[in-house]
Amino acid sequence: MIVTKRANDPVWTNIYAYAQLPAELRRLDEIAHNLWWVWTPKAQNLFRRISPELWESTEGNPITPTRLLSAEEMAALVADKDFMAQLDEVYADFQAYMNEPADAVRPSVAYFSMEYGLTNILKIYSGGLGVLAGDYLKEASDSNVRLTAVGFLYRYGYFTQSLSPEGQQQANYEAQDFTQLPIEQIFEEDGQTPLILEVPYAGHTVYSHVWKVNVGRISLYLLDTDIPQNSEWDRPITHQLYGGDWENRMKQEYLLGIGGVLLLNRLGISKDVYHMNEGHAAFMSVQRLLDYVEGEGLPFDEALELVRASSIYTCHTPVPAGHDYFDEELLGKYLGHIPGRLGISWHDFISLGRENPESNEKFSMSVFALNTCQEANGVSLLHGRVSQEMFAPVWKGFFPEELHVGYVTNGVHLPTWASAEWQELYTKHFGKDFLKKQTEEATWAKIQQLPNETIWETHQAIKLRLIEHIRTFYGEKWIRNSGNPETTVSVLEGINPNALIIGFGRRFATYKRAHLLFTDLERLERIVNNPKYPVQFLFTGKAHPADGGGQGLIKHILEISRLPQFLGKIIFLENYDMRLASKLIAGVDIWMNTPTRPLEASGTSGEKAEMNGVLNLSVLDGWWYEGYRKGAGWALTDKRTFADQSLQDKLDATTIYDLLEKEIVPLYFQRDGKPYSDGWVQTMKNSMNFIAPHYTMRRMMDDYYERFYTKLAERSARLHADSNRIARELTEWKRTTAEAWDSMQVVSVECSESAAYMSNERHTGDEETVRLVLDKGALTSDLEVELIDAREDAQGRLRFVAKTALTLVERNGSREVYELRFKQARPGHYKRALRIVPSHPELPHRMDFALVRWVALQ
Ligand SMILES: *Cc1c(COP(=O)(O)O)cnc(C)c1O
Repeated sequence: MIVTKRANDPVWTNIYAYAQLPAELRRLDEIAHNLWWVWTPKAQNLFRRISPELWESTEGNPITPTRLLSAEEMAALVADKDFMAQLDEVYADFQAYMNEPADAVRPSVAYFSMEYGLTNILKIYSGGLGVLAGDYLKEASDSNVRLTAVGFLYRYGYFTQSLSPEGQQQANYEAQDFTQLPIEQIFEEDGQTPLILEVPYAGHTVYSHVWKVNVGRISLYLLDTDIPQNSEWDRPITHQLYGGDWENRMKQEYLLGIGGVLLLNRLGISKDVYHMNEGHAAFMSVQRLLDYVEGEGLPFDEALELVRASSIYTCHTPVPAGHDYFDEELLGKYLGHIPGRLGISWHDFISLGRENPESNEKFSMSVFALNTCQEANGVSLLHGRVSQEMFAPVWKGFFPEELHVGYVTNGVHLPTWASAEWQELYTKHFGKDFLKKQTEEATWAKIQQLPNETIWETHQAIKLRLIEHIRTFYGEKWIRNSGNPETTVSVLEGINPNALIIGFGRRFATYKRAHLLFTDLERLERIVNNPKYPVQFLFTGKAHPADGGGQGLIKHILEISRLPQFLGKIIFLENYDMRLASKLIAGVDIWMNTPTRPLEASGTSGEKAEMNGVLNLSVLDGWWYEGYRKGAGWALTDKRTFADQSLQDKLDATTIYDLLEKEIVPLYFQRDGKPYSDGWVQTMKNSMNFIAPHYTMRRMMDDYYERFYTKLAERSARLHADSNRIARELTEWKRTTAEAWDSMQVVSVECSESAAYMSNERHTGDEETVRLVLDKGALTSDLEVELIDAREDAQGRLRFVAKTALTLVERNGSREVYELRFKQARPGHYKRALRIVPSHPELPHRMDFALVRWVALQ
């Protein structure tokens, strides 16, 4: 028989056909490949115009339309005079922006972060930390400072959230198609061979492709290990953000810190200041130490002196449990080869990551960061204090409030988060260059002169857009999933632009207390079902896939939202991301935040709301602790009444209901025959006038320069001068001082002759003298001796009250006498003692060399 069917398997060749843009349209591609368009509404309008449908369906991705245009469509665009004029205008703006020379005065910065929230289409962020880092890069561009950033290009990024009919969160990880993203691959000099970064791990090498994101004038480099050169074991390093096990986390942090610095070296980039955005990036110090030790032949201590002098660590977590810890075995597996190369022992190395070097604590990334950075900070005033408490065990002998750990309150990038309507209004009324003066209240004060009607209409337009978005974006999905189209439609149609709409969007971590509002359902029912004063709530947020409690909370809220009395009054919007955030924080009337104090380190979504005249109702925690002004929003008191959390929750919930019933709802609906409430609009104006200017990213960046970067760059330059002369001298001084420290002896402590002294009793106004005689032994360094007063607080913790320096009055060989004559100033029960610390003019602060000797007064 004749064989009538026969075929071999096809062998397919991949063809990537990119649209060949005509010369006239090449500029489109150039603009698309610079995220400047993300915060330039004009540029977005241009891309939207090419194809409104594609713009919507790609969540606003400018790459896809230009890639998918057929030759005819391109010809049509080129023939469209209006379009071409718009392109000319946007391109001219872009060029003008890009051509401004960078600020050559302010120090340059290398910035490392695990995540960056720049635009929704680049899924390399999960939440607040990433959005903050993304906003920071955008402001670095606007402020035109010299900053280069490093992070990861995740294949799967963070998950998108969908909800099962039962309300169970489903986490979907979707692969990103790198060819459809506004990124560029970095090539070797030949322009053809992809650059491959080689990072030595213990015993093998990990290879990464390198991508670049143009964030206006700033370059963000992203590492990508998902390439065939790597083993199946290493390819997933950059698959997921905060996914995988501890070992993968270790491999990621190794790559970010060590690989990131190697990349900068490879690209010939060196900076004045190195900034770790969270402890994840702390291993950047490891490679920088290696560079000094192996590259320049410096001894370890001198290298550490130089690394510290140019490094800053920003902590975003208020609780120790939120930090990364690695056990010794895992640390050894990956960094076991490091101490030998640095010329120190394993014990010395691991001690850099321990509060108590002689213990067998796990290696803490934050402690390592603190030990290798001269400066450290929290992200709000309150969080700065919390961080001092949290880090106090690292520097024994000092009180938390004495630590050098400072703060910079987080801010948000105004051009990203203020809606186009508001930006137009600001430009028109505050002046064309208002962005340059965005941190001044005087700029924003002009809002007070605008008619209330203008403010209200601007707000309502954005609110309507939000409602429209919810109806179109969620409608279809919900109808498909609910099996009950009528109900879904009535819920969607029931979203009422005339209702007081309250938004709540954040990660569903338990401490954020999303459940607070649901403490008393009967009372809530009365609030949302008042026919004269309609109130609606929009909830949104993801829970970490490993956080069962958070997922339970989502389910709980979803169940409540389905009860007949809450149907259409409480609505849960799935998949909170930057795109939804930008619509939500601008379109609601109130943004609500109810964390357990002091667990919200800063929070930034409420700041985004401020840029849009949306009022905050929030616990006095994080940024709101500083930001709240009477008559410009609402605050839940910062007093903690109950130690028991459930009682505290009840009380806080009652406060929210009270505020809503007695203040917020009446104010909102006090219409006096107008379509809006004058009192409400005045509150909006106040919040824009008095709060918004202080929470912009520009203010935050200025703070980093003023409080940290400039200081670091100056000291670092001084230490480097003259072949590291001062670094070397300081190292030598530290070594000899540390070696001789214990040879110092207290000869005597004499107190004033007063007999009353012995009774420990004083009266205000009593004068006395303290005289300390020391034999410094082998110690040659200068000392500071001070009298410390402390007091026990209600929890029995010792609090710093005051310190007064003793004066060196006599020196005779190794014998030194210090004296202080003082008056008892305040009444009360004090604890008093003397403290001795070494002193050197080149120390940036005492925690830099924390030798402490306490001396009892008797
Ligand atoms: C701004 C933002 C956050 C951070 O807001 P918090 O107030 O810190 O909760 C989180 N997720 C998204 C998508 C954001 O845009």
